[in-house]
Amino acid sequence: MTERLYYTDSFLSEFEARVITVSGEAVTLDRSAFYPTSGGQVFDTGWLQADSARVRVREVAEDEQTGDVVHIVEVGGPALRPGSVVRGMIDTERRLDHMQQHSGQHVLSAAFERLYSFDTVSFHMGEESCTIDLATDAVTAKHLEAAEILANQIIAEDRPVEIRFATPDEARAMGVRRIPPAERDKLRLIDVRDFDLNACGGTHVHSTGQIGGLLLRKTEKVKQGVRVEFVCALRSVRAARRDFETLTEAAAVFSTHIRDVPQQVRKSLDEIKVAQKGQHRLLGEIAELQAQRMLQSAEERDGHRLVLKFFPDRDLDFIKMLAQKLTRSAKTVALLGCGGTQPSLVFAQAAGLSNDMGTLMKQTVQQLGTRGGGNRDMAQGGAPDNARAEEALRGAASTIGLTMEAGP
Ligand SMILES: [Zn+2]
Repeated sequence: MTERLYYTDSFLSEFEARVITVSGEAVTLDRSAFYPTSGGQVFDTGWLQADSARVRVREVAEDEQTGDVVHIVEVGGPALRPGSVVRGMIDTERRLDHMQQHSGQHVLSAAFERLYSFDTVSFHMGEESCTIDLATDAVTAKHLEAAEILANQIIAEDRPVEIRFATPDEARAMGVRRIPPAERDKLRLIDVRDFDLNACGGTHVHSTGQIGGLLLRKTEKVKQGVRVEFVCALRSVRAARRDFETLTEAAAVFSTHIRDVPQQVRKSLDEIKVAQKGQHRLLGEIAELQAQRMLQSAEERDGHRLVLKFFPDRDLDFIKMLAQKLTRSAKTVALLGCGGTQPSLVFAQAAGLSNDMGTLMKQTVQQLGTRGGGNRDMAQGGAPDNARAEEALRGAASTIGLTMEAGP
């Protein structure tokens, strides 16, 4: 089993080791400071140097059966042979970030536990942010604010974070709540002085000050409770910077202060709603007038009154409204089309007529290669372009056996 150097020294970034096995891209060593993905913390990257050539370590995993640390290297590097000595170098920037996020998680979980007895049931570290899942039904803004303040106080107090080894029984006696299933006789405990004591195999900072601050982000309801997103150290600075830039941009659009953006957005949405209502009312009035004119000039034939018209500049909403107004008049069949943003067709008839507009529309859109449908008295569908829409209107009129009469 690989000797894990990070177990006792999280800040060790270079080490020498002997190659044990090489299988394709997978390399195992007798000892390693590389952290393999486990316990919510993601793997390290870095390099293995053999002679004067380096090979990139792009991923590190744990072999669950043997307990070995498996280094996945990029192909095309120097040949690594079992027995040879290599120098391992860890990407320290990436590792420090992981230690800060992970240590921040210990402090944050303990803060929720101390303040509200919210138990942390899982931890996930992502590329941009991390999350913990709290076993509770709801986390309020007040909970978040209090936990965030307590966590940041603990960080500012720069408390030592120490590694201790203890048997499961000793750990229980020390008050460690979550004792992992015993695989080893000694547990590795992470002790945030007088604040948190937990069994953990990850890498941590030396003292809480190195966490460098913690910022809570969104919450989300999940199966096992509530998921709380957080970021520590430079991730929180970057997140705050991005948020500020986004808000500043939005504030500039509204020519206002960033704190007034929500109010301005609400005001604009209200104004849009009022304008849309007004537009809808006007369109209704236009459709009413249009319907009256069309009905006056439409010819009656075989007990039907056919109104057929294509509106190149109108939208579907308008021709639907028009069709409803037209077919309020007995015996009327309305075959309408529009160009607008999306060429469309509406077939409608007054109640009690014997045609089937839904079937007629299905046949039409099948020929056009578009989609549509409806019921006996009202159907709508799409058209590929204006010319095909107009042609389809004429085709539909002849299908139902009515002579085409263009409206005014
Ligand atoms: Zn940990």
